[in-house]
Amino acid sequence: MHDYISVSWQYARMSQLPDPLRRLRADTAERERRGLRRTPRVRTPDGAGVLDLASNDYLGLARDPRVVEAAAAAARCWGAGSTGSRLVTGSTELHARLESRLAEAMYGGRALVFSSGYLANLAAITALAPAGTLIVSDQANHASLIDACRLARGRTLVTPHLDTGAVEAALAARTEPAALVVTEGVFSVSGRQAPLAELHRIARRHGALLVVDEAHALGVVGPQGRGAAVAAGIAGPGAPAPDLVRTATLSKSLGAQGGAVVAAPEVVETLVDTGRGFIFDTALAPAAAGAALAALGVVLAEPGLPLRARAHARKVAEIAAGLDLRAGAPDAAVVSVVLGSPHTATAAARLCLDRDVHVGCFRPPSVPDGGSCLRLTARADLSAADLDRVAHALSAVAGAVRAAGASPGTAR
Ligand code: PMP
Repeated sequence: MHDYISVSWQYARMSQLPDPLRRLRADTAERERRGLRRTPRVRTPDGAGVLDLASNDYLGLARDPRVVEAAAAAARCWGAGSTGSRLVTGSTELHARLESRLAEAMYGGRALVFSSGYLANLAAITALAPAGTLIVSDQANHASLIDACRLARGRTLVTPHLDTGAVEAALAARTEPAALVVTEGVFSVSGRQAPLAELHRIARRHGALLVVDEAHALGVVGPQGRGAAVAAGIAGPGAPAPDLVRTATLSKSLGAQGGAVVAAPEVVETLVDTGRGFIFDTALAPAAAGAALAALGVVLAEPGLPLRARAHARKVAEIAAGLDLRAGAPDAAVVSVVLGSPHTATAAARLCLDRDVHVGCFRPPSVPDGGSCLRLTARADLSAADLDRVAHALSAVAGAVRAAGASPGTAR
């Protein structure tokens, strides 16, 4: 890579041509200076003894033999790839079964499966918010929701995080005939639940659709892990909510890959006919559909799994708080420890890794300036010994923060 860059630069110098990569190099150097460079960490199959608190495999199902075998069986039966888009050759019986199981599990009208949660969000919001729609989007929403709002033809208004008053004011003042309120059910970095019951009441009062991204809630919150909307009582067995649209990913608690939209039949029909991320994308691979289907069965059959994930998150937050680190009370399986500057967060993640604990490290633009943090996922399958290792790693972080004289949460 470096060789390629330096060769292209030398070529540009020699030939007196403008160097088209100069701006990229300058931007990269600036990110380096601000502590914002990123590198994928390549893992080994056995994890090399490193405790994983960075993945989104909340229930430990990615390696569950029932899920892995379902993926293998699906590939043997249907092939390695889905062979085409959903409307051509990509829809198998597995996709159909997965959709009906997801709709049942989340008490929705119908479900539609996509090849990723990212695409599910893009497709849902662009299809539901044509010109003449106001989209009210929480400031802390995930990049896929932000990108979806950017792509949609409607007008987007970003409201302060969890501020239901601002949502109501935006809807009341709108000039557009239609509106969409967009939020995560459980916010991906902070692990906090959105006030869904209140948002639903507000959306209803103003004739708006409520779009809830259940990526970090499905499998973790609500009875049997049925998600944040069910936990909030706005979806349930006898409570069809025609104005509620849920998106989900199959890649977190379900340990597979892919995404879904769960909504009223009218919404799903709209997505089938007009959702570009549905129509123009190769369908989810059969192995992923088979794995997700098996994982969903496990989640529904073992209600102890989400309970354990949430209990472990509370324990990890307690450990952090006991060390004077700034960790909120978690609503799901995510614990975030706010450290402030990207440099502090990167150094803290490195300290954890030195102790064989891999944690997530979130820096701008994933979080606001000054909000860099460690993100720890408290999997259901953590043991007491694992939790001791977490305490050991976090006490090193707390020690470093104290030694640097920075109070946790202050940007340096
Ligand atoms: N929504 C949220 C809140 C997420 O955190 C993510 C993944 N990080 C996605 C959507 C995208 O899902 P996928 O990874 O399946 O594309």
